Amino acid sequence: MNKIMDRRKFIHLTSLGAAGFTIKGFIPQTVHGTSSISPIVVATWDAGLAANKAAWSVLGSGGKALDAVEKGVMVTEDEMNCCVGLNGNPDRDGFVTLDASIMDHEFNCGSVAFLERIKHPISVARKVMEKTPHVMLVGQGAQQFALEQGFKLESGELSEDAKKSYQNWLKKSTYQPVINIERKNATTQLEPSKMAPSRLSNGEWNHDTIGMIAMDSMGNLSGSCTTSGAGFKMRGRVGDSPVIGAGLYVDNEVGAVVATGQGEDVIRVAGSSAVVEQMRQGKSPTEACKIIVERILHIKKEKAKEIQVCFIAINKKGEFGAYSLHKGFNYAVHTPQGNTLHEATFLD
Ligand code: ASP
Repeated sequence: MNKIMDRRKFIHLTSLGAAGFTIKGFIPQTVHGTSSISPIVVATWDAGLAANKAAWSVLGSGGKALDAVEKGVMVTEDEMNCCVGLNGNPDRDGFVTLDASIMDHEFNCGSVAFLERIKHPISVARKVMEKTPHVMLVGQGAQQFALEQGFKLESGELSEDAKKSYQNWLKKSTYQPVINIERKNATTQLEPSKMAPSRLSNGEWNHDTIGMIAMDSMGNLSGSCTTSGAGFKMRGRVGDSPVIGAGLYVDNEVGAVVATGQGEDVIRVAGSSAVVEQMRQGKSPTEACKIIVERILHIKKEKAKEIQVCFIAINKKGEFGAYSLHKGFNYAVHTPQGNTLHEATFLD
């Protein structure tokens, strides 16, 4: 039986309010007596705490960032309800389809999209990176490749929670491919079935891609990203998570970035790559994330009220930061000092 993660049950919340948080004057530390670089792993949402813990079992003993970011998000693929892995909500035709990507410190990258009935899409993405001349495999081809690589074909049955959500959604089936719901004011309560995904009727944002970025004790960066995407999406819809440069980007000379939120709008601005470019120009991780969130606001204008977009970033100095369009995004940071949850700074 899979454990159900509840974002409202915070294990450890460090709230830093609107000021956000970036380590200034980061001092490298010795890890296991072998290196002068202190590892760090940052992951989206509070589910990132458990994911970070698994990643730290690799990083804390001198392991590679690439292994850490794969191992970390596998935990979420196993445990998350609604938005990551095979327990996620299905598309409008009742099938769970998964997107994932991974990238290392040498511009090697791999991704899968529209993958069905495979438990760990992140590991398939890594195989795409390591065993093929390609970067991205999708749909049946991705599944065929996974089976050839020894992954097991799962039943495809929805989890109990997903069945309930789907039955509920089917009552109205009002999903609109372009999310363009009229909101009279910021406190209007919206039906989750209409948003798919966006703001829930209790006011929370219905996004839970797990994205993870890490630096190991060799100073190398890597990142990973995995999701079941927008709940009740059109069949065949692919979000930003498997799109290298949008949902995830790593440049080992500069930094690593991952996104969560409305994938279409992250793709529009090549979000993660754009944040990396801002860091290359000398911006801190938080400033870099903020600039790209502002760009999305500029493009979406009034419609920005209807979506949430969030980025997390780390740079080569081990500084980290995050920024979101609206309140409600948190992220987990594991350093040798511990594993803590932080509230991201936001635009409005
Ligand atoms: N970015 C994901 C997507 O659009 C969803 C999310 O992060 O909630 O597929």
